[in-house]
Amino acid sequence: MSGAPGREGVDMVSLPRPVGEYQERALAAPPPYDAFNCSPDNMRMTVNAVPVSTALKARWPLPLGAIVQPMADESKGRQVPVVSLGSAGIIRCKRCRTYMNPFMTWTDGGRKYKCNVCHVHNDIPGGYFSHLDHEGRRCDVEQRPELAGGTVEYIAPAEYMVRPPMPPVYFFAIDVSYAAVSSGLLHSVSATVKDLSAPQMMVVAELDEPFLPLPDDLLVNAADSRGVLDALLTSLPATFASNSVVDSAMGPALQAAFHVMQHVGGKLLLFQAAVPSLGIGKVKNREVLSAYGTDRESTLRQPDDPFFKRFAAECSRVQRVHPTATTCLVLKLPVPQVSSTLL
Ligand SMILES: [Zn+2]
Repeated sequence: MSGAPGREGVDMVSLPRPVGEYQERALAAPPPYDAFNCSPDNMRMTVNAVPVSTALKARWPLPLGAIVQPMADESKGRQVPVVSLGSAGIIRCKRCRTYMNPFMTWTDGGRKYKCNVCHVHNDIPGGYFSHLDHEGRRCDVEQRPELAGGTVEYIAPAEYMVRPPMPPVYFFAIDVSYAAVSSGLLHSVSATVKDLSAPQMMVVAELDEPFLPLPDDLLVNAADSRGVLDALLTSLPATFASNSVVDSAMGPALQAAFHVMQHVGGKLLLFQAAVPSLGIGKVKNREVLSAYGTDRESTLRQPDDPFFKRFAAECSRVQRVHPTATTCLVLKLPVPQVSSTLL
């Protein structure tokens, strides 16, 4: 679908809606799945058809997405088997890093396996060897959840962590520009976060090289500092109620949050209403109305600022720093793509 707002393009109202058996099919529960795949509760594609070629994908205006809920099983009353492979480590394809799964096939009497994604042959570590039965299947399939089912939980060994497990850290970065105040975002976010925990407020005017305003750790224990944090969140909407500043320094704010959290990891939640207009990561106006309805339309949906891609890679390197954004989705797309974030 295509079309600039207010211009020619697809009229959503005129789109035919599914009726009869098509409506029933659209509303039906997902089809049953075999145990070798994960449940649709865990992972579902946002579309049920995908481009058949790279060339078609490049011209495809719709983003391809998957809804991933790794914790869905418990809410459905299912237990996820836990896998701890000890000295064998987590077994993954040497070329494409695909995890051991029920679709791998076995060769050389069980001493090698063929990756079901990239078809390369891998050696089986000594501690993971099993004889094959007369049909070429491993004899220990029933004892190994990763070979018998599509959903397992691995106990990650030390090489998968950049630091020992840390207490959960949440960092809230809140836009206080005119757009955030007038839209009610600041008020809503302050009220909501107050029910969870809360941050301290410091003012940093430096845009190009944001620094930390306190030499010590800016993170606080939510339970110990509850009173101070509640007071801050209560005062935030009033403090900025008459704010007429329309500019927003979102990129520098993200960088400052990164500096605070990089030694412990954690989750960064960004609540943004205004278009970023100051410092690194500011948005350029690249709307080209003539591109709508043409092959060039898909380029408008590609991020063109390398800052967000670099930032996402840095977040991923220190693990678990996950911004959530509400505006300029195209520009920030690399951040959740690389750092496993809900956008
Ligand atoms: Zn592979």
